[in-house]
Amino acid sequence: MVKVKDMFYACATEENICKAGECGGAVTALLKYALESKMVDAVVAITRGADLYDGVPTVFTNPADLVKSAGSLHCAPTAIGKFIVQYMNGAKDMKIALPVKQCDASAILAAAKQGKVNRNNILMIGLNCGGTVRPVIGRDMIEKYYGVSPDDVIKEEIAKGKFIIVTKNHEHKEVSIDELEEHGSGRRQNCQRCDIKIPTMADLACGNWGVIGPLAGKATFVEVCSENGAKLMEGATNAKAITTQAPDPKGIEMRAKINESMIKLAAKHQKKHFSEAADPAFWASHFSKCVKCQGCTVNCPVIFDLKLKPMAFEGMGDIPPSMGYHMARLAALGNNCINCGMCEDGCPVEIPLSRLYHEVAKRIGQEIS
Ligand code: FAD
Ligand code: SF4
Repeated sequence: MVKVKDMFYACATEENICKAGECGGAVTALLKYALESKMVDAVVAITRGADLYDGVPTVFTNPADLVKSAGSLHCAPTAIGKFIVQYMNGAKDMKIALPVKQCDASAILAAAKQGKVNRNNILMIGLNCGGTVRPVIGRDMIEKYYGVSPDDVIKEEIAKGKFIIVTKNHEHKEVSIDELEEHGSGRRQNCQRCDIKIPTMADLACGNWGVIGPLAGKATFVEVCSENGAKLMEGATNAKAITTQAPDPKGIEMRAKINESMIKLAAKHQKKHFSEAADPAFWASHFSKCVKCQGCTVNCPVIFDLKLKPMAFEGMGDIPPSMGYHMARLAALGNNCINCGMCEDGCPVEIPLSRLYHEVAKRIGQEIS
């Protein structure tokens, strides 16, 4: 019997899913089994859109179609949490399974806390996440640092501290993430600071870390995080949708060590980003660019129904607004920021908003705990 905290190496049994999957296709096979067995009514997964840098949240009700969603897109930082609220009625009238990075899972939990999502109707298959790259930055850096047209890339991945691409001529090229990030490329800044890499708040946490030996790159390491996750693993194994084996104890150790070193690295980035923003002049110069479009608010996956009516203290009709405009939004967010970076992604004048909200959430969190 599968129990919470059990760990497995898992692979899809169907050959086409195994081949299309990032690391053996277990996640796709689990989603397919959830749909086939009627554990859920629909799956929302990410499919490739116009190009490799475009991830589209896609609703699946036919299990045979799910293979189209297999594979990891590192340049598609899609906000799947808000999608569930806005377009799936917060899973209030149907059961939904979905793959989630930590920030997606946290957004869903934050929405559930506000009554916007029915958590009981959601089955979250967590993906370990070392970070995502903004689509435009991804295309630019491939051109600049790899000397390759981004349209000629057929696969990208982040592994062992490198951003690796494979071109249509089967050339492999890699550049260290540190080098890319030193020059302002690489992962999004909120991902650099993100210190929850294994999403144990989901029902399962799946990733490639810790898969060693002959299955390296060909299987997914699965940690069972809830009773629903255990039920899914057990059902999928019994139905022969996936094959599993016990993980190598050295692999378990290695996964924990990589996680630890990623958390330390995130702490370094937090220190750097927060200290750079410590001078009030930093924010004064950034906020002076604000055009009051509210892109940050619309994109935020944990703020809903917020109507920021102009207030006297923010300078009625003024562009840029006074600091009060930003303080009102900060007050609405409180310590609920999940550091997903969606506010920054939605800001046309590139104000590094998530630094501010992330630091405030961290500080309040530290003071409360
Ligand atoms: P598949 O069967 O290929 O299924 C992958 C699922 O991921 C699909 O359902 C697909 O829709 C979904 N997906 C693809 N792109 C995204 C996205 N951008 N956001 C949300 N869902 C998406 N594992 C680690 O151990 N360490 C890491 O550092 C790490 N970083 C990752 C970063 C990203 C952005 C992603 C998406 C995954 C990352 N993983 C990481 C997980 C790993 O790449 C595999 O997804 C995991 O091992 C499952 O492999 P699989 O073959 O079973 O998945
Ligand atoms: Fe991954 Fe970035 Fe989300 Fe953290 S914030 S889970 S690194 S996409």
